[in-house]
Amino acid sequence: MKLLFILSILTNSAYADNIVMNHNHYDEHGNYWKIIPEIVICKSQTIFTEEQVKHAVSMWNEKYTNISSRTKCDYSVEYGKIKIIDGKLLKKNEWGYTSYFYRDVKINNRIVREHDSALVQLNRNVSDVALLVHEIGHAYGHNHYDEKPDVMNTYGSYNVSGNYPY
Ligand SMILES: [Zn+2]
Repeated sequence: MKLLFILSILTNSAYADNIVMNHNHYDEHGNYWKIIPEIVICKSQTIFTEEQVKHAVSMWNEKYTNISSRTKCDYSVEYGKIKIIDGKLLKKNEWGYTSYFYRDVKINNRIVREHDSALVQLNRNVSDVALLVHEIGHAYGHNHYDEKPDVMNTYGSYNVSGNYPY
Protein backbone atom coordinates (compact mmCIF):
# COMPACT_ATOMS: atom_id res chain seq x y z
CA MET A 1 0.00 0.00 0.00
CA LYS A 2 2.78 2.37 0.97
CA LEU A 3 4.78 1.49 -2.14
CA LEU A 4 1.83 2.21 -4.39
CA PHE A 5 1.39 5.56 -2.73
CA ILE A 6 5.01 6.55 -3.40
CA LEU A 7 4.92 5.32 -6.99
CA SER A 8 1.80 7.32 -7.58
CA ILE A 9 3.55 10.51 -6.46
CA LEU A 10 6.60 9.84 -8.63
CA THR A 11 4.69 9.06 -11.79
CA ASN A 12 2.29 11.94 -11.53
CA SER A 13 4.27 14.99 -10.63
CA ALA A 14 5.12 15.45 -14.31
CA TYR A 15 1.53 14.93 -15.33
CA ALA A 16 0.28 17.63 -12.99
CA ASP A 17 2.40 20.28 -14.67
CA ASN A 18 1.37 19.15 -18.09
CA ILE A 19 -2.37 18.58 -18.21
CA VAL A 20 -3.33 16.93 -21.49
CA MET A 21 -6.62 18.01 -23.05
CA ASN A 22 -8.01 16.91 -26.41
CA HIS A 23 -10.44 19.75 -27.04
CA ASN A 24 -11.54 18.45 -30.43
CA HIS A 25 -12.95 15.40 -28.75
CA TYR A 26 -14.84 17.28 -26.02
CA ASP A 27 -16.78 19.33 -28.54
CA GLU A 28 -18.28 16.21 -30.10
CA HIS A 29 -20.81 15.32 -27.41
CA GLY A 30 -22.73 18.62 -27.58
CA ASN A 31 -23.70 18.79 -23.90
CA TYR A 32 -24.23 22.32 -22.61
CA TRP A 33 -25.53 24.39 -19.67
CA LYS A 34 -29.04 25.83 -19.75
CA ILE A 35 -27.80 29.05 -18.13
CA ILE A 36 -24.28 30.27 -17.36
CA PRO A 37 -23.55 28.79 -13.93
CA GLU A 38 -22.41 30.48 -10.76
CA ILE A 39 -19.52 28.76 -8.98
CA VAL A 40 -19.66 28.36 -5.21
CA ILE A 41 -16.44 27.50 -3.38
CA CYS A 42 -17.06 26.02 0.06
CA LYS A 43 -13.97 27.46 1.68
CA SER A 44 -13.49 25.23 4.71
CA GLN A 45 -14.20 22.15 2.56
CA THR A 46 -11.68 22.42 -0.26
CA ILE A 47 -7.95 23.07 -0.51
CA PHE A 48 -8.28 24.60 -3.97
CA THR A 49 -8.21 28.38 -4.21
CA GLU A 50 -10.39 30.71 -6.23
CA GLU A 51 -7.42 31.26 -8.57
CA GLN A 52 -7.09 27.54 -9.19
CA VAL A 53 -10.81 27.19 -9.84
CA LYS A 54 -10.66 30.10 -12.33
CA HIS A 55 -7.68 28.44 -13.99
CA ALA A 56 -9.49 25.10 -14.25
CA VAL A 57 -12.56 26.74 -15.83
CA SER A 58 -10.42 28.69 -18.28
CA MET A 59 -8.71 25.46 -19.37
CA TRP A 60 -12.15 24.33 -20.50
CA ASN A 61 -12.87 27.69 -22.19
CA GLU A 62 -16.07 27.78 -20.14
CA LYS A 63 -17.94 30.66 -18.50
CA TYR A 64 -19.41 31.49 -15.10
CA THR A 65 -21.42 34.46 -13.93
CA ASN A 66 -19.69 34.79 -10.59
CA ILE A 67 -17.48 32.91 -8.15
CA SER A 68 -18.65 33.17 -4.58
CA SER A 69 -17.23 31.71 -1.37
CA ARG A 70 -19.12 30.21 1.52
CA THR A 71 -17.63 29.20 4.83
CA LYS A 72 -19.41 25.85 4.92
CA CYS A 73 -21.85 24.04 2.63
CA ASP A 74 -24.20 21.10 2.82
CA TYR A 75 -24.17 18.42 0.13
CA SER A 76 -27.25 19.49 -1.76
CA VAL A 77 -27.23 20.20 -5.49
CA GLU A 78 -28.30 23.81 -6.13
CA TYR A 79 -29.94 25.03 -9.30
CA GLY A 80 -27.72 27.13 -11.55
CA LYS A 81 -24.63 26.47 -9.45
CA ILE A 82 -21.43 24.48 -9.58
CA LYS A 83 -20.71 23.85 -5.92
CA ILE A 84 -17.26 22.67 -4.79
CA ILE A 85 -17.23 20.73 -1.53
CA ASP A 86 -15.20 18.09 0.34
CA GLY A 87 -15.12 14.34 -0.20
CA LYS A 88 -17.03 13.21 2.88
CA LEU A 89 -19.55 11.27 0.79
CA LEU A 90 -17.01 9.74 -1.60
CA LYS A 91 -16.40 6.01 -1.78
CA LYS A 92 -13.04 4.80 -0.48
CA ASN A 93 -11.45 4.44 -3.92
CA GLU A 94 -12.64 7.81 -5.25
CA TRP A 95 -10.64 11.06 -5.13
CA GLY A 96 -13.40 13.07 -6.67
CA TYR A 97 -16.94 12.75 -7.95
CA THR A 98 -19.28 15.19 -9.66
CA SER A 99 -23.04 14.81 -9.46
CA TYR A 100 -25.04 16.81 -11.93
CA PHE A 101 -28.62 17.40 -12.95
CA TYR A 102 -29.54 17.59 -16.59
CA ARG A 103 -32.35 16.81 -18.97
CA ASP A 104 -32.00 15.12 -22.32
CA VAL A 105 -32.70 17.44 -25.25
CA LYS A 106 -33.04 16.44 -28.89
CA ILE A 107 -30.99 18.70 -31.18
CA ASN A 108 -30.48 17.85 -34.86
CA ASN A 109 -31.77 14.33 -34.26
CA ARG A 110 -29.44 13.47 -31.44
CA ILE A 111 -29.84 13.52 -27.70
CA VAL A 112 -27.62 15.89 -25.75
CA ARG A 113 -27.60 16.89 -22.10
CA GLU A 114 -28.81 20.28 -20.95
CA HIS A 115 -27.22 20.77 -17.53
CA ASP A 116 -28.58 22.98 -14.78
CA SER A 117 -26.57 22.15 -11.63
CA ALA A 118 -23.47 20.35 -10.42
CA LEU A 119 -21.94 19.26 -7.13
CA VAL A 120 -18.17 18.72 -7.24
CA GLN A 121 -16.88 16.55 -4.40
CA LEU A 122 -13.11 16.49 -3.90
CA ASN A 123 -11.04 14.63 -1.35
CA ARG A 124 -9.05 17.25 0.56
CA ASN A 125 -5.81 15.29 0.38
CA VAL A 126 -5.41 15.80 -3.35
CA SER A 127 -3.69 19.07 -4.17
CA ASP A 128 -3.25 18.15 -7.80
CA VAL A 129 -5.02 20.64 -10.08
CA ALA A 130 -5.53 17.82 -12.61
CA LEU A 131 -8.28 16.42 -10.36
CA LEU A 132 -9.95 19.82 -10.16
CA VAL A 133 -9.78 20.20 -13.96
CA HIS A 134 -11.24 16.68 -14.39
CA GLU A 135 -14.22 17.26 -12.09
CA ILE A 136 -14.85 20.80 -13.37
CA GLY A 137 -14.94 19.16 -16.81
CA HIS A 138 -17.76 16.86 -15.63
CA ALA A 139 -19.52 19.85 -14.05
CA TYR A 140 -19.60 21.54 -17.47
CA GLY A 141 -20.98 18.40 -19.09
CA HIS A 142 -17.86 16.70 -20.41
CA ASN A 143 -17.60 12.92 -20.32
CA HIS A 144 -14.69 10.58 -19.75
CA TYR A 145 -12.27 10.08 -22.63
CA ASP A 146 -9.96 7.08 -22.48
CA GLU A 147 -8.69 6.65 -26.02
CA LYS A 148 -5.68 8.91 -25.53
CA PRO A 149 -3.82 10.29 -22.50
CA ASP A 150 -6.18 13.01 -21.34
CA VAL A 151 -7.24 14.82 -18.18
CA MET A 152 -10.67 13.18 -18.65
CA ASN A 153 -9.33 9.61 -18.48
CA THR A 154 -11.58 7.55 -16.21
CA TYR A 155 -8.72 6.53 -13.92
CA GLY A 156 -6.44 9.49 -13.38
CA SER A 157 -3.87 9.31 -10.62
CA TYR A 158 -3.01 12.38 -8.61
CA ASN A 159 -0.50 13.91 -6.24
CA VAL A 160 -1.69 13.21 -2.73
CA SER A 161 -0.70 15.33 0.26
CA GLY A 162 -1.89 14.97 3.83
CA ASN A 163 -4.18 12.40 5.41
CA TYR A 164 -7.38 14.24 6.13
CA PRO A 165 -10.19 11.71 6.78
CA TYR A 166 -11.98 13.02 3.65
ZN1 LIG B 1 -14.45 11.34 -13.93
